[in-house]
Amino acid sequence: MPAGLRPDSVTLEANLMNSMGGPELSIVIPVYNEEAVLPALVARLRTFMERLAPLEAEVILADDHSSDRSPELLKEICRSDSRFRFVRLAKNSGSHVAILAGLAQAHGECAVFLAADLQDPPELILQMLDLWRAGHHVVWAVREEREGVSKADLFLANTFYRLLNLLGEVNLPPRGSDFSLLDRKVMDALLKSAGSNPSLGGEVARLGFSSAQVAYTKEKRAAGTTKWTLKKKLTAFADAFVSFSYAPLRAMSYLGMLFSFLGFGYALIVVVLRLMTRTPVPGWSSLIVVVLVLGGVQMMMLGILGEYLWRTLEAARQRPIYFLEDSSEMDTSADTKPQQVGRRFGT
Ligand code: UDP
Ligand code: MG
Repeated sequence: MPAGLRPDSVTLEANLMNSMGGPELSIVIPVYNEEAVLPALVARLRTFMERLAPLEAEVILADDHSSDRSPELLKEICRSDSRFRFVRLAKNSGSHVAILAGLAQAHGECAVFLAADLQDPPELILQMLDLWRAGHHVVWAVREEREGVSKADLFLANTFYRLLNLLGEVNLPPRGSDFSLLDRKVMDALLKSAGSNPSLGGEVARLGFSSAQVAYTKEKRAAGTTKWTLKKKLTAFADAFVSFSYAPLRAMSYLGMLFSFLGFGYALIVVVLRLMTRTPVPGWSSLIVVVLVLGGVQMMMLGILGEYLWRTLEAARQRPIYFLEDSSEMDTSADTKPQQVGRRFGT
């Protein structure tokens, strides 16, 4: 049975698990066509979890509807090691939604999310845990350098975060972060309030809570190729911008005011010239320029309005952000029966 994000029942269940002695740490990893890197990832996580002992950890692999062999590999991993669980989204929804789906299944007192390609070293979690124990509810892992990233990508990423910090209503860590630790309180708040096109860094920053940062070097991808196409990046940018900034709407008002002011000024000049000189004002060129410029600006404004409007419509529909197609619990060869997942989400 498909299951959507129903934060209240999910977090209630997660809290219940904790009081029954669940793991202290959940590691959530979005996976999209990562068959090349999965064996290395799992080996590295297993070694890391040995270093963590006696602290107990679980790993939730959120399959963002991969079309390669990742789902089979994930099933094998989860069957052979009970510390690993997986969920599979019903469609490719982007890593932010996949992470939310993973967090909804997390039983830990805190959770860390990081990428599957080992660009974010899991060993850094030790430092993040120290800061969490010192009382910080959010720990951002902030990338200092990025190995193996093209200049164009770096420029795009830096511009994105600078613009969002400058014009947005939230303050992200200086160079953004897709590797973070969240306390249970933050997870619960996030799952209750994430919008329909969530932009994770901004959503977490928006919540507040005391936060700390650790610096790290983003390593080269261990295997496979990037799954974030330019189109996906631009969509993510638009989502984040519209979610956390009203600057385009304000800019529209200012631009409207400027054009009205100029328009009225010009109209006055035309009327005065007509009355004073009695010679017709030469018109076609200026007229066509005004028509084209105003037409273009109006269409752009409508487009911006539309961006906000369709997201409002999405939010008003209150549909679940994702549906699950499969999970460790639903896996028929596992012990747990599928209907338990249905009950968990109240569907
Ligand atoms: N990812 C995902 N869904 C997507 C694209 C990417 O779950 O549609 C995952 C991917 O498997 C990886 C993480 O998001 O774990 C980061 O993606 P990637 O490393 O390809 O991005 P980059 O580091 O190149 O920005
Ligand atoms: Mg990567």
